[in-house]
Amino acid sequence: MAKLKTPNLLELPDCISLTDLGKCKRLNIPICQGQNCPFKMTTEELIESKKLSFRIISDLDESLQSHISMKYYNGSMPWK
Ligand code: SF4
Repeated sequence: MAKLKTPNLLELPDCISLTDLGKCKRLNIPICQGQNCPFKMTTEELIESKKLSFRIISDLDESLQSHISMKYYNGSMPWK
């Protein structure tokens, strides 16, 4: 089996899925794909994405919000 080259961590993107060893926690690949990866997400982008999804959920009717709450948030409604 070929040994993988250790990546230069300073050249890798600011991504929440990047480990200290330059691996990706999100995708099933051994080494981060770098700046052009379409799945790259910074902490700020994650926060904005959550805000948007919570805004969308809060616009749904109460029964649907309750269903989402039970299925994905253990009964809590963090968007309220
Ligand atoms: S940029 Fe892509 S490959 Fe690299 S850690 Fe993030 S999601 Fe994984």
